[in-house]
Amino acid sequence: MPQSRVKPLIAGNWKMNGVRSNMRELKRIAEACKKAPKPRGDVLICPPFQVLWPYKEAVKGSPVRLGGQDCHTSVSGAHTGDVSAEMLADIGATAIIVGHSERRTDHGETNVLVRAKAEAVHAAGLIAIICLGETEKERDAGQTIRVISKQLKESVPNGSTAKNTVIAYEPVWAIGTGRTPTSDDIKKAHKALRTRLEKRFGPDGAKFRLLYGGSVKPGNAEEILALDNVNGALVGGASLKSSDFVPIIRAAK
Ligand code: PEP
Repeated sequence: MPQSRVKPLIAGNWKMNGVRSNMRELKRIAEACKKAPKPRGDVLICPPFQVLWPYKEAVKGSPVRLGGQDCHTSVSGAHTGDVSAEMLADIGATAIIVGHSERRTDHGETNVLVRAKAEAVHAAGLIAIICLGETEKERDAGQTIRVISKQLKESVPNGSTAKNTVIAYEPVWAIGTGRTPTSDDIKKAHKALRTRLEKRFGPDGAKFRLLYGGSVKPGNAEEILALDNVNGALVGGASLKSSDFVPIIRAAK
């Protein structure tokens, strides 16, 4: 399938930022997306889950969708402080990020756990955005492709399809640092992921959306989003302000 046929996704990860008063910023993003030119791709914001309910109002009537940042592997039960994919679906999430490097680092999440979480997301009827990426040490040792291939193999469930799964390549050293890989390095990583997806999932592997994440800003979005096999972006810091995020949304052609 030609790359141009894969609809891009621009997803914002608000991390642990978001109270009801930030709704103003979300409303600005939603309003901008209603105006021409309409976004060429899908637009998703993943705020902390406690604001999903009030934020639903802010995006009503706009193409902006809401998602979660993590979930438990179970539907319900004795798991104090956790939230399930079903619960997030119940309050309007359409997708959930799993395996973000901050969860892998802060909470020791392994590929096996990330895979189980992705399965829980699928069981809830939502899209799993599965994150992977190498550390700086791994990059410097020339291990990038080996590391992300292993993460892809072990974190992505067998039941994944281009409809229920998005892969986000996020070099750990590029997240929140203002540093990005060269365009050539992004292309190499995405090509490697595409080849492995096609090998494993056949023709459907060509349709999975592969997002790049790590210090995407209005100033570099156009170049990154135009690269082969880059079907959108996962954006952290620059998704918090409409003045940064809207130009990134518009950069997806
Ligand atoms: C992220 O946390 O997924 C991310 C890409 O962050 P930033 O855009 O701030 O680097």
